[in-house]
Amino acid sequence: MKLYLVPTPIGNLDDITLRAIKTLQSVDAILAEDTRTSGVLLRHLNISKPLHSYHIFNEHQTVQRLIGQLKEGKTLALVSDAGTPGISDPGFLLVRECIKNDISVECLPGPTAFVPALVNSGLPNDRFTFEGFLPHKKGRQTRLTELAGEERTMVFYESPHRLLKTLQQFAEVFGPDRPASVSRELTKLFEENRRGPLSELITYFAQKTIKGELVICVQGKEPSRGKAKRVYDNDVDEEEDE
Ligand code: SAM
Repeated sequence: MKLYLVPTPIGNLDDITLRAIKTLQSVDAILAEDTRTSGVLLRHLNISKPLHSYHIFNEHQTVQRLIGQLKEGKTLALVSDAGTPGISDPGFLLVRECIKNDISVECLPGPTAFVPALVNSGLPNDRFTFEGFLPHKKGRQTRLTELAGEERTMVFYESPHRLLKTLQQFAEVFGPDRPASVSRELTKLFEENRRGPLSELITYFAQKTIKGELVICVQGKEPSRGKAKRVYDNDVDEEEDE
C-alpha cells in the first residue's frame, strides 16, 4: 500500500526519469489530472495501466475511495498534466489523507517549472518564496501588498493572457526598476528567458503576442541596512552575528 507522486515532463519528453518510468510500470493504477494528456505520455512510454481521473473538480469526492483502495494493498501513482503533482496541481488533499491513514507516500524528484525558472533568472536563489498563481480577483491586491516588503526572490506562475497586467501591477507594487525575469516555454523548442527591470519586461512583452506557459521571478526588496547580507554576496564564511 503506497502512493507515489510521479513528476512528468513540462515540455521535453526526454525529461522523464528512469525511476518515474519504472514506478509507472510497477503500480496497480495511475491517477491522472487529465486522462487524455497522460494517456499520450503513457503510450509514448509504452505503459498500459488502468488510468483514473483525479482532478480539482472530483478530488474531494474520490479521495476516500482512493484511501480505501490503498488500504486494500493497492499501489497507486498520481501524475499531473505536467511537472510535479501537488505543485499548483491536485495532490495535497490525497497526500494529507494518506498521512492521516498511515499510508506510505513517496514523491519522486523530477520536472517542475519553478526550479529552472528561478535558476535561469539569475536572481538570488539562496532564499526564495514560491507564490504559485496569484488570486485572480478577490485577495489579489492584499497578497501583493503583503509581498511589497518581501526580501526573498518571489516566483509566480501566470497565464500568458494575464502576463502584461501582472507585470504592470508588480511595477506599481515593487517599483519599475525591480529586477525580474519571465521564463516562457521552458524545455520546449521556443524556450525564452527574458531578464531585466520590470519596466523593460513590460515594454518588451507589450509588443508581442504572448503565447505558451510562463513563470515570473521578481527579486526581493533590498535588505535594509544592518540586516544580514544575502548569502551570494559572501564568498567566505563570516562570523555569526552576536
Ligand atoms: N505542477 C506543475 C509544476 O510542477 O511546475 C505546475 C502546474 S500549473 C497548473 C501550470 C503552470 O506551470 C503554468 O501556468 C506555468 O506558469 C507553469 N509551467 C508549466 N510548464 C511550464 C513551462 N514549460 N514553461 C514555463 N512555465 C511552465
